Amino acid sequence: MRREPFFAGPGLDRADPVRAQPERIAEYARSSFALELVWQNGLPAVGPDGSLQWRQVADPAFFLGLKDNIPCFCGCQQEVGAGPATFGMLANLSAADAPLFAAALSLARWHSRHRFCATCGSESEVIRGGWSRKCPACSAEHYPRVDPVVIMLAEHDGRLLLGRQYHYPPNHYSALAGFVEVGETVEDAVARELKEEAGIDVADVSYVASQPWPFPSSLMLGCTSRALNDALTIDFAELEDARWFTRDDVAAAIEGREDAPFLPPPPHAIARTLLERWLAA
Ligand SMILES: [Zn+2]
Repeated sequence: MRREPFFAGPGLDRADPVRAQPERIAEYARSSFALELVWQNGLPAVGPDGSLQWRQVADPAFFLGLKDNIPCFCGCQQEVGAGPATFGMLANLSAADAPLFAAALSLARWHSRHRFCATCGSESEVIRGGWSRKCPACSAEHYPRVDPVVIMLAEHDGRLLLGRQYHYPPNHYSALAGFVEVGETVEDAVARELKEEAGIDVADVSYVASQPWPFPSSLMLGCTSRALNDALTIDFAELEDARWFTRDDVAAAIEGREDAPFLPPPPHAIARTLLERWLAA
């Protein structure tokens, strides 16, 4: 079975036509069956069974959408962010609720950090159920930001290039990654990042899969590429190490074998999905 990236999937009916109808949203919010997301320590609360936690609506600041035809709301959050417990909590979050977790977290965080108009500085107003903000002074409309990030494998002669950043736990290696810059294609960004961080030239960049990464609002664009040379020039400002690993090395890491030469990215990272699909191909 082909594993989808964690956080992938529709998660809920975003009910776009409803967003333009404030009366309908208000009616939903007053209904006895509507639900509001519970928050804990700056994150959507996850119960012992891995599901998101809900309560009766008290603060219908943002209309998330419809989940099994039930209107779902999110209250205005002052403190939104990833605490030290985030990654332990992610291991518990159910894959079915992960897309909604990602949408609510990124949306609430965006509102908490973007109250003022970027054009004129006036305080902007929430419109479209929370899926945009409009400035009453200059009429500029602002949308929740999405930051595209390329994350990619480079293959040379059957081996994969993986690297580790300084903050990774010991012996963990993962796919190299970097933000897409303005004026760049995904292919350009993949080639530039691999050149900057590892000194290699690549061709045949292919898109594999994407993943919303809500810390705070990235869109991970998973790619593969073919390296034209294998001599590495590592940018030690970005990476602690980068190496080529054989197919057997990668298989050992994914299978969790004791002789594995490195530890793989965790299951909720799209880098893990890229490695698993590369092995299966
Ligand atoms: Zn303005």
